Amino acid sequence: MKLQCQVEVINRLHSSLNIRSNGKYLKSTLALGKEPKSDVEYFILHFSSTNKSGTKYRAKCIKQVFVKCINEGKATIRFEEPPHDLCIKSEVIQLKCFMRILRSVLTGDTKNLNLAPLSSLSVTHKDAAPTKLVIRDRSEFPVKGLPRTLESLYINGLNLCNFRREILLLKNLVILDLSNNAIEKLPPEFGRMPNLCELYLSNNQLGVKDVVDWRWLLNTQISQKLKLLDISGNQLKYLPKPIWKLQKLVTLKLDNNLLEKLPTTLGRMSSLRHLTMTQNRLTTLPCGLLQCRLEYIDLSENQLDAQETTPEPCKSTPWEFYIGSLVDITSKVVLKNKFYYAPNIIPWTLVEFLDNANMCVCGAPVVNNRFYMNKEFQLRDYFHVVVFNSNRKSTVTFQCYFCSHKCLNR
Ligand SMILES: [Zn+2]
Repeated sequence: MKLQCQVEVINRLHSSLNIRSNGKYLKSTLALGKEPKSDVEYFILHFSSTNKSGTKYRAKCIKQVFVKCINEGKATIRFEEPPHDLCIKSEVIQLKCFMRILRSVLTGDTKNLNLAPLSSLSVTHKDAAPTKLVIRDRSEFPVKGLPRTLESLYINGLNLCNFRREILLLKNLVILDLSNNAIEKLPPEFGRMPNLCELYLSNNQLGVKDVVDWRWLLNTQISQKLKLLDISGNQLKYLPKPIWKLQKLVTLKLDNNLLEKLPTTLGRMSSLRHLTMTQNRLTTLPCGLLQCRLEYIDLSENQLDAQETTPEPCKSTPWEFYIGSLVDITSKVVLKNKFYYAPNIIPWTLVEFLDNANMCVCGAPVVNNRFYMNKEFQLRDYFHVVVFNSNRKSTVTFQCYFCSHKCLNR
């Protein structure tokens, strides 16, 4: 019986001497087996990436087994001698299976057990849990399904029309590359991928239908982890306003779509550093973008020089800025102080109202969408590297909202 897992070995002797463990879980294999010439002696062998020959622990020396967190895929085996604690993290079902057999061994209920003698146990290359898989042909899909241990998965250029739902089971997945397929939608549950950091979806069909299902994007799990999103070449006509919820996003690639406008909420993405949106139909940019600390922005091949009909100059009086409704005033306070809000605390209509708030040129929240003006800004004053067609003027038109009369007249 072998278990693919991650193990941290804690030497209790060290802990009692106040020597800290390095706190590192190593990719490991635990093997439970029988001593060749004995019927009652069982052993656990622990192989890891740094310990290829393995450490042998006698099952007799197990002092205690901690399984309180087994449903989270965690367990600890404590040995009397050597004074080691093996802290194990593994896939829940496999771990439970391993622990069940270990219990049989410990209770002596070994009638139905058929464990291999330890001498025949060794870690082969095949045993090492695969963490990366590249599929370039349909025949390369593993017969047994995708290994749950995958951390990066590349399925490119297969013309897949449907998202493969078995991907949802890969809880360790960090990098997913599905570019060059024909995927039209991701399921909402995809937003629950707990560790996904890089998502490549370029050259798919996400935007072919008029209404794109973006629900996966709103899930807190994905929005707290995702650092790179590539949705180039998807015929997208719009981006959802809540895209700003991807609070860890550093790189956003939007090239080669049909975008005419970017969401005005984009300025709320505080981590965004690289933004590319070449080959779209953009005529203006939202002024909130000036609040992003972008290091790289590529705007080439858009329609930024197209003469857009300027909106009516706003004929607002200062009073209209100062006397907002109670909802407006409180919303501004909530947004300015970045208070946490969610549909379980306040009505979802208010959540939507707060989510859709715009941003003034000064960065303050603007909940009133009525007044906006087009203004030219020199992008190089704001961002580190700016790329656009070299033959055009160097300013870009921004669609600006204003929080106060002072900002309006600036
Ligand atoms: Zn302002």
